[in-house]
Amino acid sequence: MAAEALKNNDGSVQDEWGQICNQLKMEFGETAFDSWLKPLSVGNYENGVMNICVPTAFMKNWVITHYSDRIHKIWERKNPNIRQINFIVRATNADSSLLKKISSTPTPQNIYMPEMSFASNYNGYDTHDGFMQLSAPLNPNYTFDSFMVGKTNEFAYAAARKVAESRSVSFNPLFLYSGVGLGKTHLMHAIAWHIKQQDPKRHVIYLSAEQFLFKFVKALRYKDTAAFKEQFRAVDVLMVDDVQFMSNKESTQEEFFYTFNSLIEEGRQIIISADKSPTDLEGIETRLKSRLGGGLVADIHPTDFDLRMSILKYKAKQMGIELPEKVAEFLAEKVTSNIRELEGSLKRVVAHSQLLSKNEITLDMTQDILKDMLRSIDRKTTIDEIQKKVAEYFNISVKELQSSRRARTVARPRQIAMYLAKQLTSRSLPEIGRKFDRDHTTVMHAVRKVEGLIGEDVSLAESVNALRRTLEN
Ligand code: ADP
Ligand code: MG
Repeated sequence: MAAEALKNNDGSVQDEWGQICNQLKMEFGETAFDSWLKPLSVGNYENGVMNICVPTAFMKNWVITHYSDRIHKIWERKNPNIRQINFIVRATNADSSLLKKISSTPTPQNIYMPEMSFASNYNGYDTHDGFMQLSAPLNPNYTFDSFMVGKTNEFAYAAARKVAESRSVSFNPLFLYSGVGLGKTHLMHAIAWHIKQQDPKRHVIYLSAEQFLFKFVKALRYKDTAAFKEQFRAVDVLMVDDVQFMSNKESTQEEFFYTFNSLIEEGRQIIISADKSPTDLEGIETRLKSRLGGGLVADIHPTDFDLRMSILKYKAKQMGIELPEKVAEFLAEKVTSNIRELEGSLKRVVAHSQLLSKNEITLDMTQDILKDMLRSIDRKTTIDEIQKKVAEYFNISVKELQSSRRARTVARPRQIAMYLAKQLTSRSLPEIGRKFDRDHTTVMHAVRKVEGLIGEDVSLAESVNALRRTLEN
C-alpha cells in the first residue's frame, strides 16, 4: 500500500507536505497537531488532485470540518497546481507498521506505550460499542513519592496534596499552570492515585481537554450527549489537563462550562491545568476564565539548580545507576529548559554508557554525548537578537522597530521580526508583543500577513530566508 501510495509522488509533494505540517503545527499548536494532523499522510497525486490518507472515518470528518480549508490554502500558495484535496480513509504507513508490530507480538496487551499519541489509538473507536470509559489511563510513575519538591513547585505541590487528602472541597477549582514539562500532569496523576488508594469508591476522572473535546464530539455524533453528561454527573473529582487546548473552540467551551458549573454547584472537586494563568489564557470566553480563576490558582515556576539536582539524583537512583556529582552538576547547569528535557538528557547518557558497556559515566563522555543538544541550547535565538538583525538588514534602528511608526519602511520589517520571533523562539504571542510594545493580536496579524506575503512576494521571501539563515547560524 505504501509503495502504491507513493508511486505517483515526486519528492517535492512530500517536501511540501512536510513544510505544511510545520506550519500547521505552529498555527494549531502541538497537541492538536499530534492528535489530528500528524496521523495524516500523503497519498496519490495526479492532475492537480491530491489524496491525503486518514486512518479512520471519524478523523476524516473531523479533519475536513476543522483543518481542510487551511490545508488547502497553504498548499495552494506553495503549489498552484493543486486544485483539489481529497481525504481518504486508509491506514497510514505508521499505523500499518504499528499494527504489524502489535499483531506479531505474542502478548500485545502487555506492551505499555506511554509515548503513543492519543490519535494512534483511534482504531476501533469507529465502531459504536457502548460508551467508552471516560477517564484516560494514569501513568503509574506519576505519584507524590516520585515528585521532587523545591522552591519553584512547593506551593503547587502543597495545594495538590491538600486536594488529594481532604474529603471536603477546600478550593474549587484547583488551577495549576506552568510552561511545558514542569510537572502539571505528574501532579494531577499523583492526586488521582492518592485518592484511588485512600478511597477506591470515589469516582475520579482524569482526561486532557483534547480528550474531553474528542469524547464530546463523539457523543454528538452518536446523538448521545445525555449519556455523556450523565457520566460526568457521577464523578467526585474531575481533572482536565491542558485546557488551553479549548482555545477558540466555542462549543466545547460551552459544554465544558455547563459541566463545570453543575459539578461545582454539587460540591464536586475540579482540578484544571493549563500553560497560562486563567487571565492570560487566549481564546477562552471571559465567563469561563473567571470561573477557572475562582478557586485556588497555583503556578509552577521554571526549575532552579537545586531542584534539578534533586531530580537527577532521584532518577539516577531509580534507574540504579551511579551518577557522579560532577556529571549531575553539569547536566543541572546546562539543561535548564524543563524537567522533561532534563530527564531526556540523563536517559541519553545512561543509554549510551550501557550500549557501549562503559562501567562508569564520566563528565567527558556526558559532554560528548550531549554535544548537539547543548549546541542548540547555546544557540537559542532571542527576540532581542532578531530585532537587532532585522533592523540592521533593513537599515533602520531597533528603536524604530519598537516604535509606533506605521510607515511601510518600518512596519514591514517589524512584521517580519515578529514573524521570525514566532518561528524561531518558543515565546508566546503576548511575550513577543511585549518586546514590540504591542498586544498579541498585532503579533498574530503580523505572522499571518508575512506568511501570506512569503507566497506572493519573492523579494520579501528572500529577505525572510536570508534573515532566518543568519539567525540560525
Ligand atoms: P507538564 O504536564 O507540566 O508538561 P509533566 O507532568 O508531563 O509536565 O512532567 C514532565 C516530566 O517531568 C515527567 O516525566 C515528570 O515525571 C517529570 N517531573 C516533573 N516535575 C517533577 C518533579 N518535581 N519531580 C520529579 N519528576 C518531575
Ligand atoms: Mg502535561
